[in-house]
Amino acid sequence: MSREERKLRKAMQERAKRELRKARKHAPEMRAGRSCTAGFVVEVGPGFCDVLSGHDRLRCRSLGEVAIGDRVLFSPERRRVEEILPRSTTLSRTDPHNPHLERVIAANIDVVVNVVSINSPPLRPGLIDRYLIATGKSGAAPLVCVNKIDLLESAEDLHPLRPYEESGIQVVLCSATTGEGLDGLADALAGKLCVFAGHSGVGKSSLLNALDPRLSIATSEVSEANEKGRHTTTSSALYRLPNGATVIDTPGIREFGLWAVTKADLRRYYREFDGHPCAFSDCSHTHEPDCGVKAAVEAGKISQARYEGYVRILGSL
Ligand code: GDP
Ligand code: ZN
Repeated sequence: MSREERKLRKAMQERAKRELRKARKHAPEMRAGRSCTAGFVVEVGPGFCDVLSGHDRLRCRSLGEVAIGDRVLFSPERRRVEEILPRSTTLSRTDPHNPHLERVIAANIDVVVNVVSINSPPLRPGLIDRYLIATGKSGAAPLVCVNKIDLLESAEDLHPLRPYEESGIQVVLCSATTGEGLDGLADALAGKLCVFAGHSGVGKSSLLNALDPRLSIATSEVSEANEKGRHTTTSSALYRLPNGATVIDTPGIREFGLWAVTKADLRRYYREFDGHPCAFSDCSHTHEPDCGVKAAVEAGKISQARYEGYVRILGSL
């Protein structure tokens, strides 16, 4: 074979390889051999996950950090996940027992619904802020769902939520008990893959039952002694609602450790800081002179509470 021929042959081989790579990219089931099927992860447990493919639900050995909501390639014969497909969004937190470990709460979600209550358990704006930061980082849209509005004593109880609405975050008011506001919540979720997340006892399971009475998920009393609520759900579960929404209900949490958010990143997740330029482009809005954000807080254009929350979270990173 002449040098020219060898060169030509090599070029053709390279081209064939490129085309195969391209075909595999567009047809994921080709990637891990013919016996692989595409599926959707609907439950994750220690070492296993349940994968939905068509109408079949199969328990498979999981692969690395497979998360609920993941799209995967799995082998039905070997009952094994072979590959996790690229995620459109990833909602993560820091493992509560190991600060160096990422815990993926859910993958490929469209909306993170942070369910809160005002009185029982009491509202924790710091936790809302953490969810909003994690949601901003995930790539999903945020929604704050205020449940138990039947327990409100006066309209003033809702004041702490104003800064969120003012910065363009959708806030839905509802009550799983009276049914008030549920249509608005259902509309916001229709056709989307959503996550219900929040403090335990805020009524996530009750809301799902109210949205679809056929679900009959177990709920628990908010304990009177500490008003912190008990943990009913210990792992995430996925439900399909009549309006085409898919909801991942997550275990109630008390603390939310931000994953891979740096001090320099943090300000990006506060939309209300935009449009208030500072003398330094990398201003942390704390000690620097000529800080537009601090001036806006003093002038009442940015919520004092949100700003103080920002400074607290900044100090924790
Ligand atoms: P989860 O931990 O977030 O899933 O909360 P649950 O759904 O288990 O609810 C905790 C408690 O709050 C239960 O006793 C529910 O009956 C109660 N609860 C849920 N939603 C409402 C509501 O809209 N109004 C009132 N008054 N109580 C509610
Ligand atoms: Zn500044």
